Amino acid sequence: MTTTTPEEARSQIVNMVRDFVRRDVLPIADEHEQKDIVPLGLIEQMKGMGLFGITVPEEWGGMGLDYTTFAMIFEEISKGWMSVGGIIGTHHIMTYVISNFGTEEQKSRFLPAMARGEMRGGLALTEPDAGSDVQSLSLSATKDGEEYVLNGTKMFITNGRHGDTFAVLARTDPNVTPKHRGLSCFIAEKGPGFEVGRDLDKLGYRGLDTCELIFKDYRVAADRLVGGEEGHGFQQVMSGLETGRINVAARSVGVATAAFEASIKYAQQRETFGKPISQHQAIQLKLADMATKIEAARLLTYQAAEKKDRGERVDLEAGMAKLFASEICAEVTLEAMRIHGGVGYIKESPVERYYRDAPLMIIGEGTNEIQRILIARQLLRRYPVD
Ligand SMILES: Cc1cc2nc3c(=O)[nH]c(=O)nc-3n(C[C@H](O)[C@H](O)[C@H](O)COP(=O)(O)OP(=O)(O)OC[C@H]3O[C@@H](n4cnc5c(N)ncnc54)[C@H](O)[C@@H]3O)c2cc1C
Repeated sequence: MTTTTPEEARSQIVNMVRDFVRRDVLPIADEHEQKDIVPLGLIEQMKGMGLFGITVPEEWGGMGLDYTTFAMIFEEISKGWMSVGGIIGTHHIMTYVISNFGTEEQKSRFLPAMARGEMRGGLALTEPDAGSDVQSLSLSATKDGEEYVLNGTKMFITNGRHGDTFAVLARTDPNVTPKHRGLSCFIAEKGPGFEVGRDLDKLGYRGLDTCELIFKDYRVAADRLVGGEEGHGFQQVMSGLETGRINVAARSVGVATAAFEASIKYAQQRETFGKPISQHQAIQLKLADMATKIEAARLLTYQAAEKKDRGERVDLEAGMAKLFASEICAEVTLEAMRIHGGVGYIKESPVERYYRDAPLMIIGEGTNEIQRILIARQLLRRYPVD
């Protein structure tokens, strides 16, 4: 009897995702993206493929994949269309928070349905007046008997309209210091008092609902407080965001790779001054730099993922991977547009979309200014002066 090695299992799933992207995602990506249509058909297919439960432990009905495979999956999806990665990205952070910090009842109640994609979720941290400084958020959760009452507004929430259940970070104690000890995470299902506000019209990352969520006297049962104890929400979601940074780094590698591959093909087809532009040294230098930077970003991403798989702390590595990969993605997608010349600036060309998608990775999951501050803080701890 032959058994499948972990490497074979990884390549089977990555190949399955690559085939799905080529066969089903790419043919519809441009039209859906430009018209800002959520690809509901692809969501159904992804449910069937188990992609809503990639890191949910097998005992709760997920695939229980490691973070290296996770990174490869997001890379493959983003080579086709980054927004499709967004559909499962924040859903994954929510399942991570429940898997790692939830009570047994919360795990059995939510994880199997979330792994099947029957219940779709996201992460609601950002508010109109609190993004980078998430500790200053003001959405309040006030205990009332066996319930909490939530009041406030969340902003920029991915899957906001089509998702049904969100991990919501709220303030349970307005007086405690440090401020983050006053934050708690709730599993909030849509219902009375939980409304979707505006749909945000975005530069890129289109075909994915990013919305305002409004809580007005929304009542949530006390047993929906993640882990059952107040004051741990900040640490729970920050731990989830570490994996979100691996995800954003992998998405950046995927988008940059797609831009590079389109460019190297185009450069061999387009002729100027009697020869393909790939034969002009100025274009060759661009291609060499693009490929080198992408490879470096990929290695940083895999290194962070492998360290996470070994159970080690990866805030530094995930931050570096996210910072570097997103910055080179923005550079590479601009270079791709230069290589395509005027064609790169029109919507018929895929590089136009890559160029619009790239900046989100600089902003999302903690801006790159914030990443640099976190990285520097870690470095200063690691290199103390005796
Ligand atoms: C398409 C999209 C999807 C998103 N999805 C989600 C989601 O699903 N859930 C969610 O909770 N959030 C989501 N966000 C929000 C995102 O995480 C925030 O936009 C991001 O964290 C930045 O916060 P902000 O927009 O309030 O910017 P601000 O915090 O106002 O920052 C503005 C600028 O100031 C800089 N800055 C801030 N503080 C410092 C400092 N101390 N030192 C130096 N520079 C600083 C920032 O780097 C940035 O350049 C999404 C955003 C977008 C655009």
